[in-house]
Amino acid sequence: MHNAKILKEVDPEIFDVIKNETNREHETLELIASENFCSEAVLAALGSVLTNKYAEGLPKKRYYGGCEFVDIGESLAIERAKKLFGAEHVNVQPHSGTQANMIAYLALANPGDTIMGLNLAHGGHLSHGHPINFSGKYFRVIHYGVDPHTETIDYNEVRRLAKEYKPKIIVTGASAYPRYFYFDKFQEICDEVGAYQVADIAHTAGLVACGLHPSPIPYADIVTTTTHKTLRGPRGAIIMCKAKYAEIVDKTTFPGVQGGPLEHVIAAKAVALKEALSDDFKNYQRQVVDNAKALAEELMRLGYRLVAGGTDTHLMLVDLRSKNVTGRDAENALGNAGITVNRNTIPYDPQKPFIASGIRLGTPALTTRGMKENEMRKIARLIDKVLMNIGNEKIYQEVKSEVKELTEAFPLYKERRELYEKL
Ligand SMILES: *Cc1c(COP(=O)(O)O)cnc(C)c1O
Repeated sequence: MHNAKILKEVDPEIFDVIKNETNREHETLELIASENFCSEAVLAALGSVLTNKYAEGLPKKRYYGGCEFVDIGESLAIERAKKLFGAEHVNVQPHSGTQANMIAYLALANPGDTIMGLNLAHGGHLSHGHPINFSGKYFRVIHYGVDPHTETIDYNEVRRLAKEYKPKIIVTGASAYPRYFYFDKFQEICDEVGAYQVADIAHTAGLVACGLHPSPIPYADIVTTTTHKTLRGPRGAIIMCKAKYAEIVDKTTFPGVQGGPLEHVIAAKAVALKEALSDDFKNYQRQVVDNAKALAEELMRLGYRLVAGGTDTHLMLVDLRSKNVTGRDAENALGNAGITVNRNTIPYDPQKPFIASGIRLGTPALTTRGMKENEMRKIARLIDKVLMNIGNEKIYQEVKSEVKELTEAFPLYKERRELYEKL
């Protein structure tokens, strides 16, 4: 890794940013459900000369010369994604999940049309129609939510809304929904009202790829996903669709929404997709789900209420009201003890989003480090110890030293950290 040495010489301040972040990732317990740790192979592709290349267009159909090698990289990414998800057509160029959604909406609808998505306050994503996002500014938005009692999607209510408002697109998938999404049930509703289904599996893609969560591929017109969450690749996204939408999806990606593709990121997506086709990855995803169940059960045993009564996936929402702690205070206190989480609203939350009544916890990142059910139960008890002692610095320090023991037992990016230390 001689390039780290060069970076240190050219720009010691940025070298320190990278070194300190690498140490932070190793030294803390990462429970943010949308994060993960990609492999050294993925990092190697990201940090390559492929970043230099302009390649507007698609493999073998570029607007620039010299694309013979990036064509191979992008074609490999496409073929691997098709195989992993069983998709008819894939575009691997979207720079992010939000941009993938913009492409999907503009491929199927026009600004001013009605789209329907899950309310952000019930687990949806900003790009599913929030007023401060492009999706809420360019489209007329109807939100569906979760049932106040079951805290799961009420498909009859979705059907009622769809019949009343006749959306052009129904967006499915979520950022903070702990139960399965039934894309087949949504498709029935779409068929009844003549809507397209755009399924956004940004969070669950790794589970979907391994058959651990229902797949939208047989039903939805377009499926988008990020590549950096459960899929464990580089930051970015891909779009999958039925063959009949191939041309419109490709054209809307470029030149519709984006310019030149990030071929270094696309190569890293190809590497991650190759990893995702392995048996190791299947075992990893199974462990992610098992770990989430273990963490959820131990938290419930300790008296915490989980939204929707638990989890089917890699994440859970913990309602902290009965413990008299807000999401914001919990996030800050846990952060002081070396445990990284994010505050999250719970459905029908009495608090503003900035304060929030809950926290969202996910297991993908810790599972990548090799942690299993025993560690999850231990972490649940550490979380409880902090939350029962908000403001108690001594307790934070005690928990922090237990966190250190755990992180030392499951090291992350070890060689990389040792090299940075030596330079
Ligand atoms: C994370 C997420 C996105 C957005 O991804 P970015 O790459 O941050 O733009 C979109 N949809 C859902 C459901 C997500 O969870």
